[in-house]
Amino acid sequence: MRGYFFDMDGTLIDSMPNHAKAWKQVMAKYGMCFAPYECYLNEGRTSRDMIRILADRQGVTVSDEMMEAIYREKTAVYRQMGDPISVSGVSDLLQYLAKDPSNQIWVVTGGGQVDLWEQLEQLFPGIFHPEYMITAFDVVHGKPHAEPYLRAWERSGLNKEECCVIENAPMGIRSGKAAGLFTVGVNTGILSLNDLHEAGADKVFSNMHELRQWLEDMKTES
Ligand code: CA
Repeated sequence: MRGYFFDMDGTLIDSMPNHAKAWKQVMAKYGMCFAPYECYLNEGRTSRDMIRILADRQGVTVSDEMMEAIYREKTAVYRQMGDPISVSGVSDLLQYLAKDPSNQIWVVTGGGQVDLWEQLEQLFPGIFHPEYMITAFDVVHGKPHAEPYLRAWERSGLNKEECCVIENAPMGIRSGKAAGLFTVGVNTGILSLNDLHEAGADKVFSNMHELRQWLEDMKTES
């Protein structure tokens, strides 16, 4: 394998605990319950879809103004929580992959922050390249649609068999599989391993250390 397509939130950056806390706090203010498990399970949906699903289920009518207010407040609360750290073991894995210059290390995210590359460079110096990035600006459809990972694969110039998607969430796993790519699920949060299996992951690992070991073993065997 030579193309490694990493999801960002929850896979590279340990941002999910703060996202979940921010959601819970702001939704409570608007009279809605928000269980952290829900946040992890729906991770990858746009914020507006997330609000809509929860509001519908709880019988709350959300106007466009309210939708915007919730989104704005959630973003503000999240930002106040400070910069998130990297997911445990992922720096080690990235450095291992970067040792082989024929490897392409991509980030494929639904996020659309303009300073995304700078954020990645700060956490993982010298690993990512601005041309190996698919963000919200590159696609029409977000995960679980195949488009984000299809774009990465097309731009990589590699065969599908040479590519591996690394994801932490069911939506992202569905996206990788829909693109016809080998997809690994790494459970970095509070979901069960079965949630990742059910989404269709080809392999599921409990952490990044296990994934690195598996990649090393595969290399030794080949
Ligand atoms: Ca994710």
